[in-house]
Amino acid sequence: ALMITSECINCDVCEPECPNEAISMGEEIYVIDPAKCTECVGHFDEPQCVQVCPVECIPVDPSHTESQDALWTKYRRLMLVK
Ligand code: SF4
Repeated sequence: ALMITSECINCDVCEPECPNEAISMGEEIYVIDPAKCTECVGHFDEPQCVQVCPVECIPVDPSHTESQDALWTKYRRLMLVK
């Protein structure tokens, strides 16, 4: 999963781009729900939030690093509950 760092300026452009609805406004800055983030696997070639973020504050979350296989599994599970 990806994460949003404290560099976030709350510009709001990433939230509508997320195909998994994993991004929301947190207490101070925008946050990504790691249970919903597939790094856009299953939807796009590149993570859409990373593409649009003007301050490049969305790295891979070091406490939620996942293989491509794991991200595909998560994508399929998320599609089942939709
Ligand atoms: Fe924050 Fe970047 Fe999202 Fe803007 S695009 S709200 S700066 S994480």
